[in-house]
Amino acid sequence: MDGRGQEAMPAADRNAAGRVGRARVDGRDEARAMDPLLIQIADLPGSERSRRFEGHAVGDAGISFFVTDAPAGHGPSLHTHPYAEVFAVEEGHVAFTVGDATIEAEAGQVVVVPAGIPHKFVNLGPGRSRHLDIHASCTMQSEWLEE
Ligand SMILES: [Zn+2]
Repeated sequence: MDGRGQEAMPAADRNAAGRVGRARVDGRDEARAMDPLLIQIADLPGSERSRRFEGHAVGDAGISFFVTDAPAGHGPSLHTHPYAEVFAVEEGHVAFTVGDATIEAEAGQVVVVPAGIPHKFVNLGPGRSRHLDIHASCTMQSEWLEE
């Protein structure tokens, strides 16, 4: 760390909604298109179980993701995306259905779902599961395949 990053967080500014901080860059604090953004995960849309970040909302970020922190039994129904989705499991045990395969993943493992492949997941428990669900697109697009 070069120290600049450490300074940036306390100096972060807040917009009218109090949600997004703009870090200081080279001593300047006015908003610029290329400034890094500091966003509180708790302020992203969604619920405590699943927060959604979409790259298009912050300019040119080329990805989107869900931050998932879910109780046992939680997970979405079968769906597809026109881009790859990558799950980085940080805590818990999660069963992924990817096409015809069932993959059980735990903390420290990554599951890659190719574009267009139907998939879903469920937290096997007994505790919560935490994972980052990265969508290789700045806009999320999902087709739901079951009720
Ligand atoms: Zn998905």
